[in-house]
Amino acid sequence: MNEQPRPQEQAWNECLKVIKDNVTPQSFKTWFEPIKPVKLDGKILTIQVPSQFFYEWLEEHYVGLLQKTLKKVIGPSAKLEYNVIVENGQQGNSPYTVNQPSGNTSRPVSNELGMPIQLGTSIKNPFIIPGLKKMNIDSQLNAKYTFDNFVEGECNKLARSAGLAVAQKPGGTAFNPLMIFGGCGLGKTHLAHAIGNMVKQVHRAKVVLFVSSEKFMNQFIDSSRNNSTADFVNFYQYIDVLIVDDVQFFAKKERTQEIFFQIFNHLHQNGKQIVLTCDRPPKDLKDVDERLLSRFKWGLSCDLSMPDYETRLAILENKMYQDGITIDREVVEYLAHNIDTNVRELEGALISVLAQASLTRKQIDLPLAKQMMKNFVKNASREISIDYIQKLVCEFYGIPVEAVKSKTRKREIVQARQIAMYFSKDLTKASLKNIGMHFGGRDHSTVIHACQTVNDLMDTDKKFRYDVDEIEKRIKINTF
Ligand code: ADP
Ligand code: MG
Repeated sequence: MNEQPRPQEQAWNECLKVIKDNVTPQSFKTWFEPIKPVKLDGKILTIQVPSQFFYEWLEEHYVGLLQKTLKKVIGPSAKLEYNVIVENGQQGNSPYTVNQPSGNTSRPVSNELGMPIQLGTSIKNPFIIPGLKKMNIDSQLNAKYTFDNFVEGECNKLARSAGLAVAQKPGGTAFNPLMIFGGCGLGKTHLAHAIGNMVKQVHRAKVVLFVSSEKFMNQFIDSSRNNSTADFVNFYQYIDVLIVDDVQFFAKKERTQEIFFQIFNHLHQNGKQIVLTCDRPPKDLKDVDERLLSRFKWGLSCDLSMPDYETRLAILENKMYQDGITIDREVVEYLAHNIDTNVRELEGALISVLAQASLTRKQIDLPLAKQMMKNFVKNASREISIDYIQKLVCEFYGIPVEAVKSKTRKREIVQARQIAMYFSKDLTKASLKNIGMHFGGRDHSTVIHACQTVNDLMDTDKKFRYDVDEIEKRIKINTF
């Protein structure tokens, strides 16, 4: 079984040893391991490369190294020739190869069929950042979105840990593509950037790109206008970790879907990582090609939902910590209680309160927060009614609402009745007489007495005070 390596293999293996010492391990893996030596004819070594893009890349970046290495291994008159595999655009036709000399990438050459192929012009980066080298593609990542400041909760556990796994081992997990979906303002974009940022940290050599689906589409349209779609595709096929935000915008954009399908396939086949975000689950995506949809479902889809109260609190605290702000705990709790639409609004509410306080030079306290929230939350400022107070107090003590309206003088009932009266006086505009009417037609002096008793007990009885505070919190959730 110990076959002698053929001369071209022997020569190429020698070359690889030299090259390995001169390039990064990642570049070596990407650009030199896939090369196959096919022929050594005198001093001419022919190597096969998987695509035209590959050939151009080698010529542009490594031609000096290759030539020096060849001269060292084969001799001063060594020459390099490429055997380039060319995909045949027409379906059913298999790829063919063309031979290219080294050191001249800009002349038209013909393939085996005698058709001219335009080679050479370097691939344009659709992000057009002047002075940018291809190896230095700007990832378009926002450094402020990280895993560290993405607060974990039940609402995002799976998505967050899948994101971490993907960032540690891009392309090396079953989560490919990783599809993160969820409503607006729930952290999809944050998580997507966090993945990209972590990849850059852990795998410096990996080429990461974050792009919104709209930008992708616009670049594609531009490229078709400029007849540079091949460059566009090549650019994207070169990415190791491609993150596309808000893929729901691909709906109805058939040509964009087609080109994305092509890029997706190429990346996926080559073990590259794809991360997608979407404002709805893939099954609810309308007007997206079935083939593309089925690919979206290949890896892992996980959703982000609205954080629960504790997580909302932690998100606010995390944000305040980052920004070096301190605010009374009761204000933070109030915001966390009342904003349950999405995280963006939660953050927005915090910012509004801060802005208002600094504009008016006021202390950030509960009344200010309440005032602000009136403008913030739709159908805010729901009036608190006596009925509502009775209902919550009775729920708290596990007694029927009728009990507080009855004549009963049982101790627990009397206490619940007094607390309900106290809140009716404190939180509604109802007159003492009116309050009395709601409690089985009692007179105003009974209501006054109830309020006094509750105040006294709150001063002297810790447990009682705790209960009253808790009831107040419950009454105030969703009301102002
Ligand atoms: P989406 O892309 O889903 O519309 P974003 O990623 O833009 O939402 O998130 C909206 C805001 O909420 C951002 O400022 C983001 O940092 C913040 N956010 C969302 N989820 C979290 C979280 N779990 N921890 C910290 N901040 C979060
Ligand atoms: Mg977003």
